[in-house]
Amino acid sequence: MDFGFKANVKLILDLDYGKTINKADKIELYNAVSKAAMKTLGKDWGLNTDKKKVSYLSMEFLIGRMIYNNLYNLGLLDEFKELMNENNIDINIFEDIEDAALGNGGLGRLAACFLDSAATLGYVLNGYGIRYKYGLFKQEFENGFQKELPDDWQSFGDPWSVRREEEKVRIEFKDQSVYAVPYDMPVIGYGGKTVNTLRLWQAEATKPFDFELFNNQQYTEAAKNKNEAEAISSLLYPNDSTEEGKKLRIKQEYFFTSATMQDVIRRFKEKHGTAFCNIPKEYAFQLNDTHPVFAIPEFIRLLVEKEGVSFEDAFRIAKKTFAYTNHTIMAEALEKWNVSLIQSVIPHIYEYIVLINKELVKELNEAGISDAEKKKYLIIEDDTVHMARLAIYVSHSVNGVAELHTEILKSRELKEWCQLYPERFNNKTNGISQRRWLALSNKELSDFITDKIGDAWITDLDQLKRLEMFAFETDVIKEFEKIKQVKKRQLADYILKHEGVKIDPDFIFDIQVKRLHEYKRQLLNAFSVLDIYFGLKEGRIKDFYPTVFIFGGKAAPGYYRAKAIIKYINEIAGMIAADPEVRDRLKVVFVSNYNVSYAEKIIPAADVSEQISTAGTEASGTGNMKFMLNGAVTLGTFDGANIEIVGQAGMENNYIFGARVEDIEKIKDTYDPLGIYQNNPRIKRVVDTLIDNTFDDNGTGIFKELYDSLLKGASWHKPDQYYLLLDFMSYCETKMQVNTDYKDRLSFRKKCFINMVNAGKFSSDRTIRDYFNEIWN
Ligand SMILES: *Cc1c(COP(=O)(O)O)cnc(C)c1O
Repeated sequence: MDFGFKANVKLILDLDYGKTINKADKIELYNAVSKAAMKTLGKDWGLNTDKKKVSYLSMEFLIGRMIYNNLYNLGLLDEFKELMNENNIDINIFEDIEDAALGNGGLGRLAACFLDSAATLGYVLNGYGIRYKYGLFKQEFENGFQKELPDDWQSFGDPWSVRREEEKVRIEFKDQSVYAVPYDMPVIGYGGKTVNTLRLWQAEATKPFDFELFNNQQYTEAAKNKNEAEAISSLLYPNDSTEEGKKLRIKQEYFFTSATMQDVIRRFKEKHGTAFCNIPKEYAFQLNDTHPVFAIPEFIRLLVEKEGVSFEDAFRIAKKTFAYTNHTIMAEALEKWNVSLIQSVIPHIYEYIVLINKELVKELNEAGISDAEKKKYLIIEDDTVHMARLAIYVSHSVNGVAELHTEILKSRELKEWCQLYPERFNNKTNGISQRRWLALSNKELSDFITDKIGDAWITDLDQLKRLEMFAFETDVIKEFEKIKQVKKRQLADYILKHEGVKIDPDFIFDIQVKRLHEYKRQLLNAFSVLDIYFGLKEGRIKDFYPTVFIFGGKAAPGYYRAKAIIKYINEIAGMIAADPEVRDRLKVVFVSNYNVSYAEKIIPAADVSEQISTAGTEASGTGNMKFMLNGAVTLGTFDGANIEIVGQAGMENNYIFGARVEDIEKIKDTYDPLGIYQNNPRIKRVVDTLIDNTFDDNGTGIFKELYDSLLKGASWHKPDQYYLLLDFMSYCETKMQVNTDYKDRLSFRKKCFINMVNAGKFSSDRTIRDYFNEIWN
């Protein structure tokens, strides 16, 4: 019997908690609404269908808050709102349900957008990852310093997951075995027709833990066994290239990839028996960066050892089934492991890596590659295992994530591989889901668009182009301007509430939100703000349009420089706020705990999107696309997908500055940041604030260390390795140009508008369609 969604919510509240809707607390309501929505789903979530199934293997899924997105895609959001209104409950009641932050940043968010797009387009793509007990830490500031708190995202319950006890599998390590227990989350496509699965594996002990049965020693052993098992899926590594806890990291990687491969092979056998040569017709395995690469030797091992397939056949099948996405530009940053480390955790996998490496050597010999050249390809080179080489060798496709990135891979970082297998290399420029990043997060703008061109853009973002003719209609641009003001006011209210900082919605909102990293150059932004500050004080800058610079982002806990930059920006914010001479024109705020839900509030309010990575360092970026879609101009370098953004929306509607990849290539051996610093008083002035007691780092020396990183370098890098000083003047000039242009508001807003209408290319629907057509067939 179907009582309808609203009635079901009430029924569940009564059955589960014995409460009426007005008596239920937030968590009870959250669980009841989620459960009622789950009831509307069918049983099969894409794991058993006859269609070709893509298994998307990723160490991270940054899905954010699920409830509003799922209700939206199911078409239940309006009914939900009605129910809340009927009972005088705020529809934003779930805003402090924790995000599922099972990822660090762009790579994990991309995986989440891909899930949304595939389900919306009706493709079968199931995500496989780890059900971390704790997601990315929660960030607070204490005296301007980042403080990390555990993110216990399941504390509100996890009504969107279903535990599938009967489908658990065993994972063997050298001196440990654990269960991987699947928790399935439905991935609901827009319109609710297709539901796929995000299957997250949780590590559990294989031995029972029931203390009444045990004597003391047994108890201690069982407790240890339990803790060691659960540790595997306990923590998300708070960095995508960490050096810490290497053994545990290898365990995590093998844990979820082995579980996934066992799961897929079992399902295949249930349907098709042992005709394993048909696996590539039934499945495609996409590796999101190198973290899941142990899936390759594990897949081959399972076929050989458990199914009696010959190594040669297993290898051939693997090559046809696996494809690899590279997210890293610098070859030296590619994932590598020490042989002895792998041997100490998963020796049975190491054996297969050796066999695969032998195949490779055979092939290199046949291709007539010289011994000296061979070294560049070897999966096992001396005592190191190169994960990317393993991935490239046993895949039929290797893709970069933006045009520039793929070109750099082909011509520089992976050149030798591209010469050997040119047909494998291809580009798939990243994208974002317009459902999450426009329809859900910016209702005002969505309604405006739908009012003009209908709602087809929700599943076909190229439709936005039909708005282009309105760019010349003043009334329309004014309407668009009003929406931006509304979003800015909403964000100002939110920041006041959450940060205790008052910002004026009439200021320009200039925003840089993303993980804290030296290559993303938040420090360059901070320097430019200081330069404006000094310029205002000195009278060098006149007629400055009041601007608030908004920062947000987390630094990996062990990344001291990134944390120093946070403290430095907070110091700048404090100094400016305390200065009555400038604070009516200039403001800085670093919002705490930037995550998907915060991004959904911040991005719609932006006038200016800061995308200022050193050219050649940001593989693609996806934050840049979210801002573009919400009608902001990009102030950025010629890097990653910025280039394609400008290609779509026009140079004249964005603000591009600084050295390009080829410029840096030319000067890098003679680059002299100390010379620049000594000869440019404005640069010297801002850089010196790191050492001249303008700011207080509580005696930690972290500011001096930043100073040295720019002018002296360190054992592992040259001075100013990200070329902040090189780009400084060009950046400041361009920033002032933005400020000047903003004064002609209509013409500035027209640029914003043109950006929005040209964002069609950056829908992850386009990206996913290209993956399906060109990689997964
Ligand atoms: C989109 C997104 C990112 C990626 O941002 P970039 O600017 O591309 O680095 C990181 N974190 C969150 C929460 C996001 O939503």
